Amino acid sequence: MAMTILVTGGTGYIGGEVIEQLLARGHSVHTTVRDAAKSEPRLRARWNDAGERLKVFQADLLDDAGWAEANAGCDAVAHVASPFPLATPRDKDELVVPAREGTLRALDFAHRAGITRFVQTSSAAAIAYGQPDKDHFTHLDWTDLTAGVPPYIESKTVAERAARDWVAMHAPGMAFCSINPVAVFGPVHDDDLSTSVAMVKKIIDGSIPLLPDMGICVTDVRDVAEAHVRALEAPAQQVRGERFPTSQKFLWLREMAAIIRQRVPEHAGRVPRRGMPNWLVHMLAPFMDEMKQVRGELGNVRDVSGRHTEEVLGFTFIAAEQTLEDTVRSLAAKGIVTH
Ligand code: NAP
Repeated sequence: MAMTILVTGGTGYIGGEVIEQLLARGHSVHTTVRDAAKSEPRLRARWNDAGERLKVFQADLLDDAGWAEANAGCDAVAHVASPFPLATPRDKDELVVPAREGTLRALDFAHRAGITRFVQTSSAAAIAYGQPDKDHFTHLDWTDLTAGVPPYIESKTVAERAARDWVAMHAPGMAFCSINPVAVFGPVHDDDLSTSVAMVKKIIDGSIPLLPDMGICVTDVRDVAEAHVRALEAPAQQVRGERFPTSQKFLWLREMAAIIRQRVPEHAGRVPRRGMPNWLVHMLAPFMDEMKQVRGELGNVRDVSGRHTEEVLGFTFIAAEQTLEDTVRSLAAKGIVTH
């Protein structure tokens, strides 16, 4: 049955794909943006035939204004908005505060509007960090904050924990669940690149001359969105309290480079062939924020399984090789990278 769903963060990479799939399945969408004057024309241009089925509201994660209006008349919420910057801020609260407060604000306004289905976009960041002796993870694992983790990882872990505590205390009947994606890639719609896709751009445009010895799990934005949509549509008892990691495969950066070379050779001219020695990463880390982040990941396997999500939500993820090919092809088609 067609529903009206609030998707927070409609300007984002994942938020946009969730809206795309919801509209395609006949639902109506309310979405929040921080600056409606700037963002609404962009969203209207992307879904120009949605008409009244798409409504745009201005609301910030750190302010109550606009949230009651955005929730009014909705059946469910997909809370996707959260800061996901390329650079690590000096003050971790720039991420932790909006992630946590924004989630609690979204939950509170949804509850006040009588909404009983809430899907939070969490992250594998809330699953797979702070446990140095582990390299394989599932939906049952939680990041250990006592070990000290980077601010973005902390922000996602704190926000998911806070949401679950809030639901247990204030709305135990709510069908709440989280989607926990690993690094998200796939087709892009404009040049406002998410942090994850910006990494692939750097691999193919020559900004990374040597590949550090690190790996990541890959998931496709279309699968991340499909997990949201299925979690919104499934019977409440199937999703209540669940965690749904989306993750297709763990790949070393050198394997990602090899896949790009093999599947899209016409855009692989600048893809690095050589590895960056670990000593160089350590030497550059004090001066380069990105190298500081890489330093903590050297040689680490952080393999998050998405099997539980495929089984419970009933679909199969797109192969990582296809995702990477589609990422590169769409970056090229939009003119974001050239030969
Ligand atoms: P994105 O494209 O940067 O989108 C982030 C969205 O959050 C944007 O719509 C942004 O709005 C909004 N936002 C940030 N701060 C806000 C604030 N103070 N008030 C209101 N809105 C705010 O990133 P994304 O990749 O789509 O990420 C979306 C969600 O997925 C986040 O929760 C992120 O943690 C999670 N996630 C992403 C990945 C990944 O690899 N991409 C992996 C796991 C989880 P503006 O346009 O106004 O900035």
